[in-house]
Amino acid sequence: MSDARQVTLLVLTDRSHRWDSSISLLPAPEVVGCEFNPSIFEYSGVVLDIKSKDLKKDLLFRLRSHLQFCLQPIFLTESISIPADAVADGIVADINEAYALAQPICLRINSLGYDPLSVLPSPLFKVLLYLYVRGTDISPVKDWNSPAIYSYPFVALLIGFSEQVEDWLEAQNQRLLLEKGVLVDRLRRCPHCGLANPNYVDVCTNCRSIHIHQDLFLHCFTCGAVQPEKVFRTQTGQLVCPQCNARLRHIGTDYDRPIENYTCSDCHSSFSEPLIVAACPRCERVTETEDLEVKNYTTYHLTEKAVIAAKTGRIEEPSALLDSLQNVNFTYFTYIFNWLFSMAKRYKDGEFTVFAIRATNFEEIEGAVGIARLLELIEEYVKRVKSQLRTTDLTSLGEKDDIWFLLPRTNVQERQIVIDRILASTTDTSQKEDRNILDLRVVAVTIPGESDQHDTPEKIIAMIRQELNRN
Ligand SMILES: [Zn+2]
Ligand SMILES: [Zn+2]
Ligand SMILES: [Zn+2]
Repeated sequence: MSDARQVTLLVLTDRSHRWDSSISLLPAPEVVGCEFNPSIFEYSGVVLDIKSKDLKKDLLFRLRSHLQFCLQPIFLTESISIPADAVADGIVADINEAYALAQPICLRINSLGYDPLSVLPSPLFKVLLYLYVRGTDISPVKDWNSPAIYSYPFVALLIGFSEQVEDWLEAQNQRLLLEKGVLVDRLRRCPHCGLANPNYVDVCTNCRSIHIHQDLFLHCFTCGAVQPEKVFRTQTGQLVCPQCNARLRHIGTDYDRPIENYTCSDCHSSFSEPLIVAACPRCERVTETEDLEVKNYTTYHLTEKAVIAAKTGRIEEPSALLDSLQNVNFTYFTYIFNWLFSMAKRYKDGEFTVFAIRATNFEEIEGAVGIARLLELIEEYVKRVKSQLRTTDLTSLGEKDDIWFLLPRTNVQERQIVIDRILASTTDTSQKEDRNILDLRVVAVTIPGESDQHDTPEKIIAMIRQELNRN
């Protein structure tokens, strides 16, 4: 490994006396938001040893969101705050600890087979690479001071919009780039403003007033009266029914305590259990507890597909690979088909071929040998297709990743050569397992030879589709 690839750390500090003279030091800026000293970018990582928390946080956040430095290891010597610390790579006691932690990260950055700067403008790649070079997961960070309680600090910073981080993570989960890991917590939030700690208040079930009080109630067996205990209590301390004047001596025989034991001072209704509602201290809206927004906070980790994206700098999805064929849209394809069709009818030498190929087992291959192998197979397939195409040939993508071909001036024999070459390595199944092979189904028509007098381009397309769908 060359010198340029060696790990070098810079200490940005306003306490240089704390550091050994052999360590690269740079005076920390004294104001928030000032320009970076460009020499920072010559180092593989930075240790921030700065007294002021504001200054330190400002530098940390700006370095972490800087295109040239977002992947690099950044350490603190003291904590800033729980969410801010999560943006750094840890709190280190000395430079040796920082070097030990920086080493594996830098090694991974240097082992990328491409220039990460070419993909880092993409927020998605920032996050994928950040996780990949660290071999880490995304974990929600708890901060009771923040309205949402949980946040994903470095993701928010890297993608640049903190408001929709959860939606963004969900979208990457849908794209199969991030996979949900451990469920860390479940919170209920105000559906109006997102505040995670609404105040649960017990209120009157009838009028929702908070002016409720718990009363002991008695139920007279003689006349059935149900009233607060204080109404039964005489001055001498005995219990006498206010309605029928019966002496209530024994609980269970003369009287009992019914369940209704709350009274509302505003509407005077009584009830056994008050209603619990969630009152938001921020937006002041009151919500039924079942209408609160339930949020599950989980960790996220890279999927195999995301790891490949990080390693190669490309997000490869079957359709993205097929797109590299410079396909025309299907409307244009049909338009040219129509044109060739009428030419073939008019002139004798206007023979041409239309055909479509469907790979029927993308999902099975992915299930059996993984997305990486599937993409390799598709890549080989696309390469073979490309090598067979002349500049005058057209391709278009149909449903189910079908590739449609339009080959002008191509007869049955010539078309068979093209098709055989495209299918070449998939038919050579001698050593490979079947589930590791693309199953390609081809339907071809050479016009006018193989078409009926009454055929139209529309009819031929419909016929090809029907054949492709045949089981
Ligand atoms: Zn009574
Ligand atoms: Zn009430
Ligand atoms: Zn609210």
